[in-house]
Amino acid sequence: MTSRRDFLAGAALSWSALQQLIKDNGIVNSILDKQKPKQMILATWKNIHAVEASWETLQKGKSILDAVEAGARIPEADPLDTSVGYGGFPDRDGVVTLDACIMDSNGNAGSVVYLQDIMHAVSVARKVMEKTPHVILAGEGALRFALENGFQRENLLTPKARKAWEEWLTKSEYKPKINNERHDTIGIIGVDTNGQLSGACTTSGLAFKRHGRVGDSPIIGAGLYVDQQVGAATATGLGEAVLKKVGAFSIVEMMRQGMHPKKACREAIKRLTQIQTTEPFQVGYIAINVKGEWGAFSLLPGFQATLHTDQGLQVIDAESLK
Ligand code: ASP
Repeated sequence: MTSRRDFLAGAALSWSALQQLIKDNGIVNSILDKQKPKQMILATWKNIHAVEASWETLQKGKSILDAVEAGARIPEADPLDTSVGYGGFPDRDGVVTLDACIMDSNGNAGSVVYLQDIMHAVSVARKVMEKTPHVILAGEGALRFALENGFQRENLLTPKARKAWEEWLTKSEYKPKINNERHDTIGIIGVDTNGQLSGACTTSGLAFKRHGRVGDSPIIGAGLYVDQQVGAATATGLGEAVLKKVGAFSIVEMMRQGMHPKKACREAIKRLTQIQTTEPFQVGYIAINVKGEWGAFSLLPGFQATLHTDQGLQVIDAESLK
């Protein structure tokens, strides 16, 4: 019969043999490396500064939730960015209204819609998620909640955005832009080395929209969806189209069935062609899965995504259906 001593000696030997094997054998190391989840940040459009900020936050040992929030706050504070936060183009009444949401790896979600006078809508959304039993706060109630939680009230309408609105008023034509050159409405999703996922999405919505209009970006399942078992997806473009097809949720569900993120984005884009419309529109989707695979796909050419992995940062020209 094996004594306890023999058993322990045997165990010690096999452990040290294993350690020796790991030391000597590059193959074993690379197998172990492959099993480690790959950290990654992926954002809509050419959002280089946002993705860098997000990546740096992750490298400082902060959570993936902190990382996506940090990324989303960059365009929110940028007065040159006319689709998000401060400097965002107003609605047809000259009022800047913001929509944002956030989701963590536990499936928690928070969102604000039709928020005015607060720059960092994504951080208010995070507070809704963490400090209330609710998912969405709207308008006046969202503003009051933000002020109670220490956010500062400020005028988000920059002189540049006011000028653009005044020019728009001369014709008052409501035509959503297909691809705005500095169209940085940001959906940002990421995975850390523990395989934890999070995502955020923030926008001032379509320029010169009808007052009170809310798009897809703050709607969980449409503009953003994160499922720790599967992956995450987010959207940009004509919110009405994304809402009708529940874009982000559909992509995650297709990935759950085993589809690669890029294929799932493509399938979700294909579904948009069922929408009856006379005006052309653009939608772009991005997605990642827990294995560290990613994808980006759009309806029309011109959509870009920004990716950061251990290999560095790259701006990707997404493939499109048309
Ligand atoms: N999806 C946003 C909205 O419809 C707009 C955008 O992505 O630019 O509000």
